Amino acid sequence: MINLILFGPPGSGKGTQAAKLVDHFNLVHISTGDLFRYEMGNNTPLGLEAKSYMAKGQLVPDSVTIGMLKNKVDQHPEAQGFIFDGFPRTIPQAEALDQLLNGMKAPITALVKLDVGDEEIVQRILGRGATSGRTDDNDESVIRKRIDVYKSETTPVYDFYDEQGKSHSVSGTGTIEEIFDRLTTLIEGLS
Ligand code: AMP
Repeated sequence: MINLILFGPPGSGKGTQAAKLVDHFNLVHISTGDLFRYEMGNNTPLGLEAKSYMAKGQLVPDSVTIGMLKNKVDQHPEAQGFIFDGFPRTIPQAEALDQLLNGMKAPITALVKLDVGDEEIVQRILGRGATSGRTDDNDESVIRKRIDVYKSETTPVYDFYDEQGKSHSVSGTGTIEEIFDRLTTLIEGLS
């Protein structure tokens, strides 16, 4: 079983690359951002709770996010592995994920970070906002807030897995295929 965390700031290409990696390695893709947007689109209680946080670029509380993630993992007993995209974003989320996967005897294989500079991110997300229909992609102050939250709350997750010898990073700039080649080379080289 391969369990990967695709890591990096908002707009670093995690969703795009995860979609390609799941095909290549036959994994299940779990994006907590996509799950929240699905719940919001259906006006569920979970979606309504997440909405106000997402609109401001803040993180949805850990208890809500962790519960949703566990449910999703439980729905895939057949999975040969998972790609976690946009999760974990806090240390408590990382601890909960490790506990869940260790209980399944399938711990995280690696965390792979996509490195992209702040200004490129802002431009990419504003570009995406023109077509994504995401309100959090259209407001530059919300985008900058998301980058700040990534730096303050989420980057410690990189160090958490680095202490386990599992963190790696690749450049997230270039063409989609170039970045995909970097990722597959790295992942195939993991022992
Ligand atoms: P994303 O699509 O990954 O950029 O996530 C969009 C928004 O969903 C974030 O700005 C957060 O408000 C929320 N979100 C997604 N994943 C998480 C998470 N793991 N923990 C808390 N909030 C999250």
